[in-house]
Amino acid sequence: MRGILIEKDERGYRANLQEIDEGQLPEGGVTVRVLWSCFNYKDGLAITGKSPVVRKFPMVPGIDFAGVVEASGDPRYKAGDEVLLNGWGVGETHWGGYAEKARVGGDWLLPLPKGLTPRQAMAIGTAGYTAMLCVLALERHGVTPDKGEVLVTGAAGGVGSVAIAILAKLGYEAVAVSGRPETEPYLKELGATTVWPRDEFAHPGKPLAKERWAGAIDVVGSHTLANVCASTKYGGTVAACGLAGGMDLPASVAPFILRGVTLAGVDSVMCPAERRKEAWDRLARDLDLGKLETMTREIGLEDVVGVAEDGLAGRVRGRLLVKVAG
Ligand code: NDP
Repeated sequence: MRGILIEKDERGYRANLQEIDEGQLPEGGVTVRVLWSCFNYKDGLAITGKSPVVRKFPMVPGIDFAGVVEASGDPRYKAGDEVLLNGWGVGETHWGGYAEKARVGGDWLLPLPKGLTPRQAMAIGTAGYTAMLCVLALERHGVTPDKGEVLVTGAAGGVGSVAIAILAKLGYEAVAVSGRPETEPYLKELGATTVWPRDEFAHPGKPLAKERWAGAIDVVGSHTLANVCASTKYGGTVAACGLAGGMDLPASVAPFILRGVTLAGVDSVMCPAERRKEAWDRLARDLDLGKLETMTREIGLEDVVGVAEDGLAGRVRGRLLVKVAG
């Protein structure tokens, strides 16, 4: 099978597209013919080796995929079923989506939600599924459209673009934060009401600032997350899922103890199966598929290694969909 393999030995750390013996596929109850995968921030970390994402070698990266079951020893799946997978350590400790075949346990798979093609599922990918997990977190904490504006940081990236489109369709006033002023027309087309410059949030700020946001989705971390919490309205909720600006959180407790702000952590990798299903069902319903297409660029498996640096540097707009086969 054709696939990307990451190797690490005395010759160094390297990722290359090559022919891989299918006999090397890991153990697992279900073999999937992978049709589509996509490029996520974490895939960039795995391919470049900039962060120790890959913990077993050799490794086929790709933290998600959509495809068709080829063979199954799991009673829940049969040959021909359309399935998708996000996370569970795939592409990190278990061979992932950047190869024509994958073999995984049935517990990690989801049947493709009704209303989405495998291509659309991977245009959404882990970034879009995480955006929906963030929206669900806001809803669970009572952030409804009538409560006020919802801020989305890193808005021109994958999570941010999908979050803006979902929030707009649900009737929220979505305010985008972006470091790329040239993306303003794009973000407004996705449904952002206003676009703020990244610089407003990127530097050390006060423990409490003017109350602005009913809720927020943050993919950046560090000073940005601290400033977002400090400017969230009384009783509001901030869903934090990313570290594009840093892993640290130089914040004070003031927003939490004086304004009752909730900081809701969002993880997509080990998220329980019912919540995943809920997120994917909601994506099939609450994401405008026309907007999804405008934020998506298709590349081939042969292009993935070449885009990794751009992806990590925040130079990719929206979503990168990877055609694996089919
Ligand atoms: P992208 O690279 O597509 O987008 C990240 C965006 O963040 C960029 O487009 C840019 O937006 C902004 N950004 C980049 N660098 C900086 C910086 N130094 N300071 C401030 N803003 C910056 O990544 P994704 O959207 O796929 O992922 C976003 C984050 O969410 C990543 O950290 C990723 O690891 C994390 N993530 C976490 C998941 C989880 O399970 N918790 C799942 C999926 C993603 P702009 O140009 O508009 O400013």
